[in-house]
Amino acid sequence: MPKKIIAANWKMNNDEYSSKKLTFDFLKHLSKSNNENVLKILAVPFPFLNTVSKMCDGVDSVKVASQNCSSYDMGAYTGEVSANMLSSISINFSLVGHSERREIFMEKDEDILDKVRLLLENKISPIFCCGESINARKKGMHLDHIEKQMRNSIFKLDASEFKKLVIAYEPIWAIGTGETASINDIDEMHNHIRNLIKSNYSSSLSNSISLLYGGSVKPNNAKEIFDIKNVNGGLIGGASLNAKDFIDIVNSIN
Ligand code: PEP
Repeated sequence: MPKKIIAANWKMNNDEYSSKKLTFDFLKHLSKSNNENVLKILAVPFPFLNTVSKMCDGVDSVKVASQNCSSYDMGAYTGEVSANMLSSISINFSLVGHSERREIFMEKDEDILDKVRLLLENKISPIFCCGESINARKKGMHLDHIEKQMRNSIFKLDASEFKKLVIAYEPIWAIGTGETASINDIDEMHNHIRNLIKSNYSSSLSNSISLLYGGSVKPNNAKEIFDIKNVNGGLIGGASLNAKDFIDIVNSIN
């Protein structure tokens, strides 16, 4: 069975004070109702990784993630943060290939593969994000688009590397828009991803990978999304900035 995971993506929000407050509130709510079977991951901005990690220390079902890492391993790359640096402060997960990185910072599938490899070399599990634009969906190209994103990057890994991934399907048109993909859309895509992994690797590997859905998940729609067969959790943007909403989402998964 894939691990159930609810990951928060704080993006570039909050200063140090409000990051501590959000973490404090999250842990306070969690102490009242912690579903230990669900892994909670907080993907926080680089400057607060250490602080938030220390605050979450000792809560086994909570991990802290970075939102990105460099596609280079070390050296003269001003402003970059390497996978090795993240590993040295005990970070175990990192988002990679988020659509905002692909669209705003022009990240290509090849860059994403480099990042995935460096994360794995540094014992950090990549949370690989993929998703199609509204145009691709309107043209009926959404399934092909996701297949291409996977073939150009993570399908180049061998099975022993691939099994360490978490995959998040996030249709771009649903991110931060309040428009959630329909249950049928999510079901179709998650089945498609599961089948692609099966044909590229094996059924047992495919059935072990956690597939998360992301895109305007809120407390009022989380349960019906998490009840879909091949959905093993969610990647939550906007709603993760409110501790109570985030915990309500966490508690919506069975
Ligand atoms: C995201 O950015 O990964 C995301 C899913 O955002 P939101 O929940 O706000 O749509």
